[in-house]
Formats: sequence, C-alpha cells, structure tokens
Amino acid sequence: MRIESFAGGLFGENSYLVVCPETGAGVAVDPGAGAAEVLRAAERHGATLEAILLTHAHIDHVEGVPLVRSAAPDAPIVLHDADRPLYDGVPQQAAAFGIDIPRLPPVDRSWAHGDTFAFGRCAFEIRHAPGHAPGHVILVAGGDGVALVGDVIFQGSIGRTDLPGGDLRVLMRSIRQQVLSMSDEVRMFTGHGPSTTVGDERRGNPFLIPHYGGELA
Ligand SMILES: [Zn+2]
Ligand SMILES: [Zn+2]
Repeated sequence: MRIESFAGGLFGENSYLVVCPETGAGVAVDPGAGAAEVLRAAERHGATLEAILLTHAHIDHVEGVPLVRSAAPDAPIVLHDADRPLYDGVPQQAAAFGIDIPRLPPVDRSWAHGDTFAFGRCAFEIRHAPGHAPGHVILVAGGDGVALVGDVIFQGSIGRTDLPGGDLRVLMRSIRQQVLSMSDEVRMFTGHGPSTTVGDERRGNPFLIPHYGGELA
C-alpha cells in the first residue's frame, strides 16, 4: 500500500492518495485543498481512483470532493451516517469560514464499524472512532502496518472536541479502544501535520499520559 499526502488550505489539511502497487487501484482519502495534487499524483502513477473515502465531514476534509468526483465520476463517496448532518451542512461550514466551495455530490455509501474496504489487493478495516465528530472513522491496514486516523489523534495532540457533535470523553474512549489497541509499530497518517506511530503517541502524547500513564488502557 503506497500512501502520499498533500497538505493545503486554511487548515493545512492532509489529502491522501492511497494506491495498491500491484494493481494500480487507488482511493482518495479526505480530499481537501490538496485534491488537485491527489489527482496529479494518481495520473503520474497510472492509478485508477476507485473511491472517495471520508474519515469525517469537516469542511477541510471534504472541500476537494467535487474535484475528485469530476475526475472519477464512478468513484463512490463513503461516509459514516452519523456525519451526514455535517456533510449536508458543509455550505454553512463554508460560510462560517468564508470559503467558497462547489456543491458537494451526495454520499453513496455508509461506513459501519468492522467493515472491510478492499481496493486491488489492499484493504482497510473500518473502525468507528467518534468524539472529534460523531461519525468519525479510522482506516486501518494492519498487515501493512498503517492507519489513516483523520482528526482523532495527531503527533503530540488529539482532535478538538469543541465543534458541533464533539465530546472529549467519547474521544478519549475512541483513542483507548480504537487507536491504542493497535500495535506500537503502526504508522498513523493524520488529518493535519506529520505522521506518527502508535508507540510514539502511547509513550509521549501529553494528552494521553495523564489519563493512562502511557499504558494500554
Ligand atoms: Zn475535523
Ligand atoms: Zn481536520
């Protein structure tokens, strides 16, 4: 599984292109302001975009959906049902931040916790991890030792919980159950900033240590 990130926009959001190297099947994950670069990279690699996978529906993670969809009209958009109200409210989110974005195409499929999403010979396990947003999911490829974790956890930080639908207690439970349950070596690709590993955050994340003493809770 080959993962490339492209940061951009007001919030420095990371848009991801993930490609199965054996087949060239690709997915766009959280296409935000970096969506045009995702498309260029897909073309460069000769990858076919088979789906648009969303960890959650904050505007910075979805503002590039129309662009990717116009380049890959058959690629389904997949989002957890609990984030549909946020997705449907993107025009209001855009207005609040003074961003002008085209109308978002409708969501095609819903995530359920425990789903497997396959593309080429690669696959993600889907884990519901609410708290930053009600329908937030993380995409885990345990065999490849990688996970795309959106805004649940960052290098040295955690997702904010002051936006509509956010809940700190729920987020901490998601981190304990869905993130810290992965092995230390798993590399996590986050919605903002550099990638990190489960082990580095278990040992050094200042938001987690006071709660769990750095232990797997
Ligand atoms: Zn977010
Ligand atoms: Zn974000």
